[in-house]
Amino acid sequence: MSRRKFIAGNWKQNNLLAESADLVNELLPLVQNIKSVDIAVCPPFTSLALVKDRLRGSAVMLGAQNAYAVEAGGKLVQSGAYTGEVSPAMLKDAGCEWVILGHSERRQYFGETDAKVNAKIRACYEVGLKPIICVGETLEERDSNRTAAVIDTQMRGCFANLPAAKVAESVIAYEPVWAIGTGRTATPAQAQEVHAQIRKLLSELFGAQTAAAVRIQYGGSMKPENAKELLAQPDIDGGLIGGAALKAKSFADIISAAV
Ligand code: PEP
Repeated sequence: MSRRKFIAGNWKQNNLLAESADLVNELLPLVQNIKSVDIAVCPPFTSLALVKDRLRGSAVMLGAQNAYAVEAGGKLVQSGAYTGEVSPAMLKDAGCEWVILGHSERRQYFGETDAKVNAKIRACYEVGLKPIICVGETLEERDSNRTAAVIDTQMRGCFANLPAAKVAESVIAYEPVWAIGTGRTATPAQAQEVHAQIRKLLSELFGAQTAAAVRIQYGGSMKPENAKELLAQPDIDGGLIGGAALKAKSFADIISAAV
């Protein structure tokens, strides 16, 4: 099965409104003729409405970087007394098609667990918001040969009891924690090995057809210089881009590498 490449930019906690406007205004003309790659930008919550407005008429999609969901009384809660939180229903309403879930920074600083990610995914499915689900090992885990076991645990936890049809439309980002924001990128072979493992596990959990449909992005210091080689791997279907997504030219060059 041929999967359409998907490049998403994770702006993290960056960009005031004027900076968000400048970035998207600079990006759009650079990518307007690229029709064969899916593109999304994921600004902070405060810039979603503005960026949505700027994206009107373009194929670039909007994503958020987190959503809140909890199960109460057997139901997934999309509104209520959860001060400071934003639900998948709200993100969908704000024009988002995508949301990043389980990013390693959220796991590290905000207590995100696989079980929490699983509830968030189910709440996204409920309202038609598509998740980009992040998994990845730390340096210590890689150095002690635990990468495969860590990925297996994260995948089984995040994907427990999900419907295959929805999983097929979801995206997974393999992001080795040691490569995020460090300038140190996984080699294409290292990344491909884990991507293949993820696809094999998806096949076991949801069947071969679903596994073949799911797009698996690589994330971790992807930049114009290394994008082409990574994207040439058979199981690498795109990229989740942090630092390089904050510069329109770099982000556009990565997208061009996916054509
Ligand atoms: C990320 O945080 O999702 C990421 C991949 O960051 P960077 O590209 O800066 O390593």
